[in-house]
Amino acid sequence: MATFPLAPGSTIGVLGGGQLGRMLAMAAARLGFDVVVLTPEADSGAGRVATRTLVAGYDDEKALRALAKVADVVTFEFENVPAGVVEALERLGAAVAPGAKALAVSQDRVEEKRFLNACRAPTVDFAAIDSAADIAAGLDRLGAPALLKTRREGYDGKGQTWVESHADAIAAFARIGGVPAILEARAEFARELSVIAARGRDGAVATYPLGENHHENGILRRTRAPAVVSPNVHEQAEAIAARILTGLDYVGVAGVELFEFDDGRLLVNEIAPRVHNSGHWTLDGCEVDQFEQHIRAIAGWPLGPAHALAQVDMENLIGADIDRWPALIGEADARLWLYGKSETREGRKMGHINRLRPLKRG
Ligand code: AMP
Repeated sequence: MATFPLAPGSTIGVLGGGQLGRMLAMAAARLGFDVVVLTPEADSGAGRVATRTLVAGYDDEKALRALAKVADVVTFEFENVPAGVVEALERLGAAVAPGAKALAVSQDRVEEKRFLNACRAPTVDFAAIDSAADIAAGLDRLGAPALLKTRREGYDGKGQTWVESHADAIAAFARIGGVPAILEARAEFARELSVIAARGRDGAVATYPLGENHHENGILRRTRAPAVVSPNVHEQAEAIAARILTGLDYVGVAGVELFEFDDGRLLVNEIAPRVHNSGHWTLDGCEVDQFEQHIRAIAGWPLGPAHALAQVDMENLIGADIDRWPALIGEADARLWLYGKSETREGRKMGHINRLRPLKRG
């Protein structure tokens, strides 16, 4: 078992080979760590910058054994890591952060909402839908329209349908194959915000300023940060993030997606137990960005400062947006981050650009 703080030269294992793994690997390398990525992809964005890649399925016993042997701590860049994988790694003697509880909670929308409400992080009202028989009572209580989502494995709005009536809801439930679902009351929010927060091994919590998020076709398009919010919203967000991370006994960085209402009330939409796309602005807007912060936390290092040094407009480069790179690299006061993906596909996140302005103080 590793002892913390990890010394430079230690090895960090990352499950997942996408852009989040890539930026984690880059941050880790800067602090003197080696990174071993485990991914089923032979040629991955993270693998291209890591010390070593194990190309295998996440449940490949041999690969997990190899990872547990070399890695002093193992982390992940996506939340759908099967619970059995974390158990296997722990059984093999690896430290895994964030832990199994954070994964279990964030993988199931009903468990997530129950957990959030129990730790006084408010959410929309909801009903668990285990069979078609649960729909009528659920919809009558929540009111129409309501949003039917699969309990598991939904992201970027996939597996979600607005329903207006019992018949609608029953048809939508049949279309998702009758798998366990959640029905959510509609949030008439004014804005979508998110807060990126970190918790260290010593229990300290650091919270970045809020980001204001804009989606297109269910995919994050832009984050503006720090978002202009009232002191009350800022305080609520900090308190909510701290309760969630402490309640999960969390180690690492997490993203908390929020709905802000006209009256300044905040509800939590969901938690991502990992670095988050809406935190990419921190790469150029903060002394210690979310990727370094995550590495610091899991390595048992003290958390770094999380305040903003600049106003940042982060724009995701999705699909063919990447073809604009010759113009983007010529922009003043902007930094371009490209993810090294060889194939451009519609809806695929290929990179992002952070456009910087002096921080408005006030
Ligand atoms: P999710 O996959 O849960 O993050 O949902 C994707 C998007 O759907 C969110 O970013 C919101 O824009 C919208 N959404 C999700 N849940 C609700 C809800 N209960 N009420 C209104 N809009 C929602």
